[in-house]
Amino acid sequence: MKVEIDPHSGFCFGVRRAIATLEARLDRGEDVYCVGDIVHNGREIDRLRAKGLRVIEAKDLDSLHDANVLFRAHGEPPSSYDTVSRNGLTLTDATCPVVLRLQTRIREADARMTASGGQVVVFGKKGHAEVIGLMGQIKGRGILVENEGQVDLVDHTAPVELFAQTTKNPADYARIAQVIRASSSAEVTVHQTICQQMASRAERMGDFARSHSPVIFVGGAKSSNSKVLFDICSQINPKCHFVTSEEEVRPEWLVGAEGPVGIIGATSTPLWLMERVKERLESVING
Ligand code: SF4
Repeated sequence: MKVEIDPHSGFCFGVRRAIATLEARLDRGEDVYCVGDIVHNGREIDRLRAKGLRVIEAKDLDSLHDANVLFRAHGEPPSSYDTVSRNGLTLTDATCPVVLRLQTRIREADARMTASGGQVVVFGKKGHAEVIGLMGQIKGRGILVENEGQVDLVDHTAPVELFAQTTKNPADYARIAQVIRASSSAEVTVHQTICQQMASRAERMGDFARSHSPVIFVGGAKSSNSKVLFDICSQINPKCHFVTSEEEVRPEWLVGAEGPVGIIGATSTPLWLMERVKERLESVING
């Protein structure tokens, strides 16, 4: 029975770019501090830590001086840039250009909404690094909506400009937008801000998930895009199993399997990790 890795899986361009930037610095022997995990994949973080990466929390930035700091693809709020200049830190900004563009669009919408008495609404996950960076652009004036149950946080009598965190599920965003529109007596502008790398990954994953059985989804426990893509994948093929590493593969998943067995990764899953999962599956199949 063959085991195949989805050819469209692996790092998105934003994560690839951030990790390449980081590794270029580490390979020069520099110590680099990154605020938060550069990618939501524990195994990849372990690999980069072994090369000299130092992961710190946002609050640790305040006490850091004369050091190299890298901002990851998720982006940062303006307060982090203020701290960098106040503390004389050397910044490598690896914020994904897609996220930077979204931050700009939210600031511009905030100026329009402030002038017209309206609201900027963001569909996202509270506490997620990208969302902290987005909400920080408008100094807490925006309204964060995490699910349909929270749409009443929005004033339905005032205009709305609606945005989504880049890694949200497109179908969930469409539903939130529809509910806000249906409840509102004022103008609602819906901005399409889900990253195309994510959206096209979700689309392309469909054929692969349908033509493989079982499907092993390799992702990070803390990764939003892993959760979104795994949910979509499980709806297409119920014989879909989530693992964070090769050690979590269970031989019973292969009992009675029709094959070929498929491996899919999130936009934060390194190819080397999917290859290890492939080797593990092949060793189970071949005894
Ligand atoms: S998912 Fe899209 S927005 Fe997020 S880092 Fe990757 S390319 Fe950038």
